[in-house]
Parts: sequence; structure tokens; C-alpha cells
Amino acid sequence: MKPWNQPSRDEEIARLKSDLWMARSTIINLMPAEFGGLLRGYYSCASRQDGHRWMDGVVDELIEQAGHSAHPSDMFGERRAMCPLCGQGSSSPYVEGYSLPEGLRRHLVGWGNQRCVVMETVSHLAQDHWDEKFASAEEEALSASKAAELQRRKTETLYRVSPGSEPKLLDEGSYAWSPPRSPEQLAFAAERLKSLGFQCLTDNNVQTWVDEQADYVVYADPRQAGRLEFEVWRKPLPKRMAPNSRHRMAGRFHLLDSWKKDLLEKYSHRVTQGLTR
Ligand SMILES: [Zn+2]
Repeated sequence: MKPWNQPSRDEEIARLKSDLWMARSTIINLMPAEFGGLLRGYYSCASRQDGHRWMDGVVDELIEQAGHSAHPSDMFGERRAMCPLCGQGSSSPYVEGYSLPEGLRRHLVGWGNQRCVVMETVSHLAQDHWDEKFASAEEEALSASKAAELQRRKTETLYRVSPGSEPKLLDEGSYAWSPPRSPEQLAFAAERLKSLGFQCLTDNNVQTWVDEQADYVVYADPRQAGRLEFEVWRKPLPKRMAPNSRHRMAGRFHLLDSWKKDLLEKYSHRVTQGLTR
């Protein structure tokens, strides 16, 4: 039986967290007074994005401050300074301090070498604070965007572009460099697919463009501007397919909208290539 005054596991964890916070805060408190306010700036960040901007600003400001106490340029024309927070310099025995600005930036940010222990501490304090401050707003935003997506899936046209995955929204998986088609471009895609022998099957708001043959079926994805994507699948397709299964897929290829010549030959050639690989 545990003694009556022995703390529970949760109490113990809470105490250790509080001790860790205290130890980290003490490190910041030991910094020169002029950096205290700068390093505690994470309290006033309005979002995580704002926080990342603040962190970049801290690094710039520290590099600027270090410049005031930098050694004059050496024989290689390089200015160097010790880290204004932890007092460390390069690990090389031949040089003192970090080169300005990149060497010190790397030390403060933690690229390629061990990060400044003070900056690491500030970063942990900031992350913990932001987790606490922004978690509920982020959760709300996430569930709002999930609800909006669910609503869109009910009302907008969905495209089944593969037998192995759920139907997709027009802009699902699109990026700035591969935007979805406009209504006019979608009409162009539909005409082109028909000319290649495709059929458009509709089931409620789900569209499926297929070229169904005796021993294979080709699924087309008309969503991306400027190109048609195709997946060739061997028949018979399994009745139940594991999510994202590619087991019966024979190949994948695309045709660009800008291509005008011998489209049917190009299409048939690529289908055959997939099936005979
Ligand atoms: Zn440092």
C-alpha cells in the first residue's frame, strides 16, 4: 500500500513540468537585461505563424547586437562574434566566435550543428506557451474546415479517379502550380475524353470517367488544368479493395491538353505499354 502522502503519478508529472518550466525560465532570467524582453516576446504572439515571425526577428536582432561587439574583419575579410546569449563560439581551435551573419544564424537556429542552448530553451518555452494558448482555437478551426469539406462533398461534383480511392473534390490535392480546371476547361476535358472513347458514369453527385474494356478498365482524372491523368487497371477488380490499394493497377500516364495530333494513338499506346509491362 502506498503511503498516504505519496503523490499520484499525475501530481508527480505536474510537479516535474512545473520544475522544468522554472528551470527554463531561470535560464532566460540569467540573460543580460537587454535581451530579457526580446526573448519573452512569445507571450504576445497572436498565432503560431506570428510566433515564427517573432522567432526570425529575434535571430535578426541578436545578429545585429553581436555585430556591435564583433572582432574587426580577419585576413579573409570575415567578421566574427561570440553568441551574445550563451557566450559560445566556433568549435574550431583556429578561429574565435561565429562568422557574421551566417555562422551565428546557424548556431541560433540550429542548422547543421548543435543549437544555442539558450535559444533551444526559449523555443521550448514558446512552443509550450503556444500549445496552451492556441490549441482550442486550432481545434475549432480544424473541425470547422472538416465540416465545410463534408458540406462540399454533399453538394459539389465529386470525381472518382481511381477504383482504389474515395471520390475527390475538384480541387482536392491541387496546388498553386497545378490548379483545378475552370468550368470551360472541364467542358474541354469532357469532349476530349469522349473522343478517346470514355463514358461518364454518374451516381448522385459522383462522376466517373471510364474506358471499360473486356480485360482492363481505364479511369480518367479530368480535374487538373492543362492535363488529363489516367490509371489503367486489370480486370477483374477485387470486390472489396483495401484503401489506396494499387494491387491491380497496371499503369499511370497523362495527356496534355496542348497535344493535338494522333491523340487516340498516343492514348492506346500508353494503355498497351501499361498492360504489357
Ligand atoms: Zn548561443
